[in-house]
Amino acid sequence: MRKLDFGAFFGSNKSVATPRPNQLIRPLVHDLHAYVPGEQPKIKGLIKLNTNENPYPPSPRVLSAVKAAVDGRLRLYPNPTSQPLREKLARLHGCQPENVFIGNGSDEVLALATRAFVEPKSGSKNRRSAKAIVQYFTPSYSLYPVLADIHGAGKNAVALEPDFSMPDVAALKRGQAWNFDAALTFVTTPNAPGGRGYATADLEKLCRAQRGVLVLDEAYVDFAKENALKLALKFPHVLVARTFSKAYSLCFQRVGYFVGHADLISALDKIRDSYNVNGLGQIAAEATLGDLKYYRTCFKKIIATRAWLSRELTKRGFRVLPSQTNFILVRPPLLPAKAWLQALRDRKILVRWFSAPEVSDYLRITIGTQAEAAVLVRAVQDLVSSLG
Ligand SMILES: *Cc1c(COP(=O)(O)O)cnc(C)c1O
Repeated sequence: MRKLDFGAFFGSNKSVATPRPNQLIRPLVHDLHAYVPGEQPKIKGLIKLNTNENPYPPSPRVLSAVKAAVDGRLRLYPNPTSQPLREKLARLHGCQPENVFIGNGSDEVLALATRAFVEPKSGSKNRRSAKAIVQYFTPSYSLYPVLADIHGAGKNAVALEPDFSMPDVAALKRGQAWNFDAALTFVTTPNAPGGRGYATADLEKLCRAQRGVLVLDEAYVDFAKENALKLALKFPHVLVARTFSKAYSLCFQRVGYFVGHADLISALDKIRDSYNVNGLGQIAAEATLGDLKYYRTCFKKIIATRAWLSRELTKRGFRVLPSQTNFILVRPPLLPAKAWLQALRDRKILVRWFSAPEVSDYLRITIGTQAEAAVLVRAVQDLVSSLG
């Protein structure tokens, strides 16, 4: 066999420079600021209230379903469309499997929506065309601008009211910053990190006025008074995003989904990975739907702890915003929020602080168990007494 002549590939010039890795990366990617997830430290005895995980474990039925599935079948590919799970979700929501799209966490479905519905700026004739715009309120889920940047799309960030309520449609029209033609609009409802719930009637008014795709990101809706799922079945341009992560104690398994018009769902289906949802995740999510009673009991406990913790922190000088989620946004007294973050960390309690100016005076605290909330209140009491 003839030896390969690499000289032929690289030219006869022996002083070929090897490429520098940085030159191989697209400029857009080189300049990206990646999403910063909350810390997952492994500190013994840490009370972890920073990433809105559920403090209660999944249902025993979910754990046994997952364990029972761990055998030689791991060598097989999972169901490519997560069909059994789609069917179960369709029954739950009163729609057809064609109205349900399952993803590797709801983060994946949000990313796929960006790719399916938004033109990159470079691909649209007018670089400021609404076709190339991802729109969202601020503050809300900080992944949305990252998704726009990854895709090379434009961003339209519109401020919520100072108390984190949503401006109504008339105010959005008056304000002129809102783009009713934006290709894709994300609304976190209930909101994060503010925690406020938005009335379905108000969301419906926005749906009526909006002409591009509107995603209602309901990651926290099980802790709220109402949900807007019916809007995804009523309007062809509205998708509701849900996740098993937060309310259903399944962050580890990465399962989220959209409900919406079959045409939008089949567009997403074309661009996803063939086996985008892992098999154990599908099994865990299906078993979750078989034991919703267990989860409703957990929601009640979290909502009760939320009310208790809100009262106790208010008594100690915190400004606590009303919450319909499994976290509260609070403005602490006496010290800057960032100093509180450290002081609590020194006591092995981890909460979340964001540097964005609209929220940098606040801490976001995940609602843990009642016992964890009690430890937090004791630590806060100690700090307030020593400072006050
Ligand atoms: C946590 C969260 C998600 C992501 O959920 P995954 O299903 O775990 O990817 C999406 N949207 C919001 C607003 C969230 O807080």
